[in-house]
Amino acid sequence: MLDRLKKLEAQSRQLDPGVEARAGLWEAAHGYAEGFLQALPEAPAFVQKDRPGAGLADFPIPEEGRPFPRLLDLLAEHVDGVGAHGASGRHLAFIPPSSLFAGALGDLLAALTNRYAAYFFAGPGAVRMENQVLGWLARELGLPEGSSGNLAAGGSMAHLIGICTAREAASLKAVDYARACVYLSEQAHHCIVKALRVAGMGEAPVREIPTDADYRLRPEALEAAIQADLRAGLRPWLLVPTAGTTNTGAVDPLEACADLAGRYGLWMHTDGAYGASFALTDQGRAALRGLERSDSLVLDPHKGLFAPLGLGALLTRHLEPLRKAHAFQADYLPSPPEDLEELSPSETTLEFSKHARALRLWLPLQLHGVAAFRAALEEKLLLARYAYDRLREMPGVEPGPAPQLSVLAFRFLLRSGDPDAFNQAILQRLTAEGRVFLSGTKLNGTFHLRLAILAARTHRADVDEALERLQKAAADLA
Ligand SMILES: *Cc1c(COP(=O)(O)O)cnc(C)c1O
Repeated sequence: MLDRLKKLEAQSRQLDPGVEARAGLWEAAHGYAEGFLQALPEAPAFVQKDRPGAGLADFPIPEEGRPFPRLLDLLAEHVDGVGAHGASGRHLAFIPPSSLFAGALGDLLAALTNRYAAYFFAGPGAVRMENQVLGWLARELGLPEGSSGNLAAGGSMAHLIGICTAREAASLKAVDYARACVYLSEQAHHCIVKALRVAGMGEAPVREIPTDADYRLRPEALEAAIQADLRAGLRPWLLVPTAGTTNTGAVDPLEACADLAGRYGLWMHTDGAYGASFALTDQGRAALRGLERSDSLVLDPHKGLFAPLGLGALLTRHLEPLRKAHAFQADYLPSPPEDLEELSPSETTLEFSKHARALRLWLPLQLHGVAAFRAALEEKLLLARYAYDRLREMPGVEPGPAPQLSVLAFRFLLRSGDPDAFNQAILQRLTAEGRVFLSGTKLNGTFHLRLAILAARTHRADVDEALERLQKAAADLA
């Protein structure tokens, strides 16, 4: 047995490289990272290929390891060399991601040191850091002192936490679900209905409230829907206004929503996954007035705070139902001290073994200071105005609604022919070129191009290039 142990130990120690082996790995990883960063200004925003990434299959998980430089080559070719660039300033599609360098460093350090961030007893510093970030976010958004929440893996996960919290607050049981009405605009993100389904509440009636000409939920239509449901003996439960829709960046009238939520006893859970970060700016705070009256809300730091993908915050002023929905005790866990002032993430989410996720946001905020974030966000709002003004001057363009935040939806018109096919062809042309990456959507049944300005590295020259390429593609294809 001892012989066998000795042999196994020698083998298993390969998993833990020593100083010299690490030096080689650091150097290669550093070279790869710097190569990636230095190539960023000229790298394509999208790479179209046949069977993208399929070459990975030629390198199945081996019994014996492969050399690190070879693996970096595979990463470069089959992962980082195909599809949408996750860090490019010319990524203007969907809601663009960023990944600040300091955020990536935060992730590296969190993974290396591997502090357990779910439970105060094991990771007191990591838990305090998470709560500090949540408290800061809540204050920036104007939620009352003492508000907190959870740093989840993204907006969809954060919404699930919010929905479970709202359900707890209303003491809804399975027998109530088919009567528990949910209200959102017809522009709401699909992840709300998905989260309801995952929460086991797929039977809850969901009312898609019509929007105005600027794609904002119409409060009169909302009130009429609530009253109709009350008359039908149903139980209006949850209102989910959107603070910045994915399609056009529209902000629902949050003050009016909060008034109606108060009047009819609804829980207001605001979807600010994309838009809520703009509350860090004066202009954004004005556009988002009423956000601070939400019972709970979602903000995605991996969008508007430029964190690496995988960070969505749920914030709420009601910690009791949040804890009631998620906290648990088990024999193999130490009992938390009664007077503990720090909420543990294990009490506010389904996750248990959880990494120190806050470091990817805490580090950039501490290192650069919040002022740099406010400036970057104000820059994006202004760039959207700038792009809108330029689009309005472009011949043959229907510029769409003025941007409320930093997303534009517009289309090119044709003298004759199908405008949907024309705009789709323009989009295909740009995607094939790969220099700028845009996406499209349907509004009132017609295809629109979208320009979403949110990536940290998007500056004026990138917007100019996108507009010039659009104009050229439209001229060529007309
Ligand atoms: C991105 C987004 C979501 C979903 O969040 P994920 O982080 O992608 O899970 C929800 N609502 C809006 C408005 C969004 O932009």
